[in-house]
Amino acid sequence: MLLTNDLLLYYKRCRRRAFLDIYGDLSSQDQEQDFLRKLRRDSQTHQQAVLAREAHYSPEYPRGDWQAGAKATLELMQQGRERISQSVLLMQTTQGVTLLSRPDLLIKQPGQSIFGDWTYVPTSIKLGRRPKPEYQIVAAFSAQLLAVAQGICPKTAWLILRRQDSYAVNLERWMPLMQDILSECIETLLLHQEPEVFISRQRCNLCRWYSSCYAIAQSQEHISLLPGVTPARYRDLQTLGVTTVKSLAAASISTLETVVTSEIASELVQQAQSTVQNRAILRQRHFSNTNTPETFRKANTLPTAPVELYFDIEAEPELQLDYLLGVLVIDRRTHTETFHPFLAETPNDEASIWQQFLDLVALYPDAPIFHFSDYEVETVKRLVKLYKTPQSAKHLLSRFVDVHQQVMNTVTLPVESYSLKHLARWLGFEWRDAGITGQECVCLYDQWLESGDRSLLDLILRYNEDDCRATYHLKNWLVNFLQNPVQP
Ligand code: SF4
Repeated sequence: MLLTNDLLLYYKRCRRRAFLDIYGDLSSQDQEQDFLRKLRRDSQTHQQAVLAREAHYSPEYPRGDWQAGAKATLELMQQGRERISQSVLLMQTTQGVTLLSRPDLLIKQPGQSIFGDWTYVPTSIKLGRRPKPEYQIVAAFSAQLLAVAQGICPKTAWLILRRQDSYAVNLERWMPLMQDILSECIETLLLHQEPEVFISRQRCNLCRWYSSCYAIAQSQEHISLLPGVTPARYRDLQTLGVTTVKSLAAASISTLETVVTSEIASELVQQAQSTVQNRAILRQRHFSNTNTPETFRKANTLPTAPVELYFDIEAEPELQLDYLLGVLVIDRRTHTETFHPFLAETPNDEASIWQQFLDLVALYPDAPIFHFSDYEVETVKRLVKLYKTPQSAKHLLSRFVDVHQQVMNTVTLPVESYSLKHLARWLGFEWRDAGITGQECVCLYDQWLESGDRSLLDLILRYNEDDCRATYHLKNWLVNFLQNPVQP
């Protein structure tokens, strides 16, 4: 069996993913998403840009012949090349597993190795912004295989991240952790032990096993489908025999308090009850003698104004560009709903759409600006700074109302995630183009820049307008619910 650095990285993220990549039925994988392809392309571009900074040598060998690749890498190391890219490091374990690491770069350093008075340190080039644990595990894995090749363990390993920041991996800390994970991974794979499903939106989002894992989780009423159930909390709940949504809904707070805090216990039980009963429940966590359900509702009531603005942004993170500022104007006086999409057809238009946005919101100085999550606030702060328009910032931001935050503060809903899509869909709202997501829009915008096909922009505009309308729908529902909530 061949155990590569990618497989180890996936094992660190999700044990099941590594297992399925080796033993799963490939025909049950989802189609690769455009966004995943885009990430891979962006990652390659980033790697090439870093490698192009200085001359480097690459081992030459027949494609897929790792033994030949390892031999060619060794020859370059023996020759004392300063920088070796796409190297191949191999090692055989006592269980007969072949470990294969392909660090993006080996960089020559002073020191003693089997080659003479030089050694190498491994460097991985990653698109991520942060030195994620899985990156550091893989860096330690490369360091271990390099130690075998050169007869001495490198003192450190490097990560080059997005924006080309360099990060030194502390091998004293990460080597033992990597060895534990590696042993566990080898055991799981050799013993053919299929790890159980655990749905986590963040890591399952782009995984090609998602549909098959999700179907299993649903059939098992798995509690990872509930918001708030993290892997660590799941392990704790398992010790109490609480593994399904129904068992969590029926659990007593005092039992759960043996493994989580009382606040988390009541939130988890309320979330499970909301799901089992398929109904919205007023959140209870803030109630005390002075904060009754009535005072709580009053304090959390959303404003209703003659004119309300609903604001949503589309961005292209790789270009650091906010290319669409969409505003839905709801005028209750005239019973009109008007959508204003301020769209940068080229990246150079961002300043101009920002000014158009400022001009529009200035027409309604008293209108609250509803949005979903804090991205809009952060973006406005960025644009104010970038385009030097501080005079607009203070009053503008004081008008912002985060509907997501209000939902989180006030109500538990029978949803798998408190994303706008899940919340609005539970309320019956549907997007006009069912298959489009925010990530998909990033790809569509890139395609527009390449092809000039206006139908791509139309899709993005409809999606953005529907996001604004979904926020409006959710806000109206929340106002009504808080006036007349159903008590648990
Ligand atoms: S969908 Fe989620 S649980 Fe399933 S293999 Fe992928 S990451 Fe793991």
